[in-house]
Amino acid sequence: MLKTTHCGELRKQHVGAHVTLAGWVHRWRDHGGLIFLDLRDRSGLVQIVFNADVNEETHRLAAEARNEYVVQVEGVVQMRPEGLINPYLDTGEIEVNAEKLVVLNPAKTTPFAINEEGDVSDSLRLKYRYLDLRRQRMQRNMILRHRITAFMRNYLDRKDFIEIETPILLKSTPEGARDFIVPSRLHPGKFYALPQSPQQVKQLLMVAGFERYFQIARCFRDEDLRADRQLEFTQLDLEMSFVDSQDVRNLIEGLIIDLFEEIGGKHLQQKPLPVLTYAEALARFGSDKPDLRFGLEFADLTDLLAASAFGVFSQAAAAGGKIKAIRAPGCAGYSRKQIDDLAEEAKRHGARGLATLKVEDGELHGPIAKFLSTVELNGIRQRCEAQTGDLILIVADEPAVVAEALGSLRLLFGQRLGLMDPTVLACAWVVDFPLLEWNADENRWQAMHHPFTSARDQDWALLDSNPGAALAKAYDLICSGMEIGGGSIRIHDQELQAKMFAALGMSPAESQEQFGHLLEAFQYGAPPHGGIALGLDRITAILADESSIREVIAFPKTASATDLMLNSPSPVSPRQLAELHIATTAEK
Ligand code: ASP
Repeated sequence: MLKTTHCGELRKQHVGAHVTLAGWVHRWRDHGGLIFLDLRDRSGLVQIVFNADVNEETHRLAAEARNEYVVQVEGVVQMRPEGLINPYLDTGEIEVNAEKLVVLNPAKTTPFAINEEGDVSDSLRLKYRYLDLRRQRMQRNMILRHRITAFMRNYLDRKDFIEIETPILLKSTPEGARDFIVPSRLHPGKFYALPQSPQQVKQLLMVAGFERYFQIARCFRDEDLRADRQLEFTQLDLEMSFVDSQDVRNLIEGLIIDLFEEIGGKHLQQKPLPVLTYAEALARFGSDKPDLRFGLEFADLTDLLAASAFGVFSQAAAAGGKIKAIRAPGCAGYSRKQIDDLAEEAKRHGARGLATLKVEDGELHGPIAKFLSTVELNGIRQRCEAQTGDLILIVADEPAVVAEALGSLRLLFGQRLGLMDPTVLACAWVVDFPLLEWNADENRWQAMHHPFTSARDQDWALLDSNPGAALAKAYDLICSGMEIGGGSIRIHDQELQAKMFAALGMSPAESQEQFGHLLEAFQYGAPPHGGIALGLDRITAILADESSIREVIAFPKTASATDLMLNSPSPVSPRQLAELHIATTAEK
C-alpha cells in the first residue's frame, strides 16, 4: 500500500507514530513558514503541517500543492497546540508533522468545490459525477447504500435464502411497463428484453426447488421519468415456497424494522406495523399509500347529505358518488383567495368543485350553510370532529375523484400544518388489493399487481361473475406516504393461471405464445409460493434523509433520461446497425 494508515483514523493515542498517508488535498492555508493542508481519503480528514524549519524542500513542495492534488505524505503524529484543537473533527486533537510529500497526481481546478456542499446545478453535478461523488454527502450515501445491501444479504443468508442471479437478456412479455429491447445479431429480426423485474424467472426458481431465493436485482422500465423515477432501478427481490402472505410479511417486517433502526438509526412510528386493507386506506385517506404520520382522516357524509337541499351534494349521491370531508385545524381564518386556491387544487385533481365551511363559535358558517338543515350542519360538525377555528373541506363526486382530490388536500394540509415529521417513519402494510382494474383505453381488465398474483381462494369464482370485486393475495409495504415494496402470493396452478390470462382478455394461443414456459412449468410440480420486491433506491434515500433517489444512485440519468457524463444515449456506427439488421429513421 502507498499508505500505512487512513487519514480519518488518527487519534490522540497515535501521537509519536510515524505514518504514511495518501489522499486528496481537501484545503490548504499558507501561513508563510507554516503550511496547513487538510488531507482527505474515504475515512475522513486529517491536518498536515509543513514547517519550513523541519524540511525546507518538503515545505516548498507543499506550497505548490492545490485542492484535489493526489499526494502522499510521511510524517509524525503530534498533538495540536493548546487552543488549536478542533472539536468538530474526529481527528481534531492531532495533526501530522510532515517530513516528506510526494505529488502522485496534480489536479486542475475542479468545476465545483469538493470541500463544501454549496449549490451546484444538477447538470454540472451529473456531468462530473465522479467529482460529485467525491464530496462528503455522496460518499456517505454510497457507503450507506453498501451497508444496507450488506445487511440485507446477511439477514437473508441467516434466514436460509440463497442469492441467485437471473438473466439481464430476457424475453419481452406484456407485464405492465414498456420493455427495453435488445436486438439479436445472431437471430435477425429477433429481440431480447431487459427484465422489468425477475418475476417469472424467480417463480421458475421456486418450481426448480430452491424454496428461498433473493437477489439485489436491477430492473429496467422504459417509462417517462416523471417524479422521482429512473429507467433502471434496484430491487431487493425475493421469493419463497410453501408460504402464505403472512409469512412473507413477517419476514420482511423483521428485516425492515432491524434495517431502519440498526442501520438507519430511525424511529418507526408503530411496531408491529399496522395493516390496512386497500378499501380502508382509500376510504380513510384517499390513497393506497397514505401518509400515516398524521390523521386528518376523511369523514364520510354521503348518507347524511344524500337528500340535501344543496343540489351538488344530492346529485353526487344520486349518481352513486361520495360526499366526504376533512377538517383543517385552525384554518377558519382563511381568506377568499386562500380558499379559491384550495378549490383550484381540488379541480387539478379532477373534482368539479370544493365546498367549505368555517367553524366559528361552535357553528358552521359559509356560503353553502344556508342550504343545509340544522341536522345536516350538526352531523357534519360531529362527523368531522370539528372545533371552533377549523375549516371543513367537502368534495362530492365520483368515489375515485373524491379520494384523489380530498387526498391531495389532506397531504397539502399535512405539509402546511407541519404534520409530516421528517424524523418519524410511518410504515404499514396495505393488503387485499383488487385483483383486476379496468383499463378504459383498452376496454379490458388488467392485473392490478401483475398477472401472476393469486386471487383470494374464495374470490376465484368472481372472475366469471364480477371480476372487479375479486381481491388479490397482494400486499404493499408503505412508508410515510411512499410505496417501498410490493408482492403477492402467486398462482401455482396451471388452470388458474390460464383462467387469469383469459380474464385479462388473452386468447389461449396468446397466453401460450407469451407465457407458455410458465404454464408448462406449472404442470411439473410447482410448489405454492409468493414473494415481494423492495425498492432499494427509495429505501436508501429514506435512510439517507434524501428526497430524491438520484442522490443514492452512483450514476443516475437525468429527468430526460440521459447520462450527461457518458453522453448517452448516443448514435452507433452504421456497421453496428447493419450487424444487428437494424435500419433507423431517426435523424443523427
Ligand atoms: N415483481 C414485482 C414487482 O416488481 C414484485 C413481486 O411481486 O415480487 O413489482
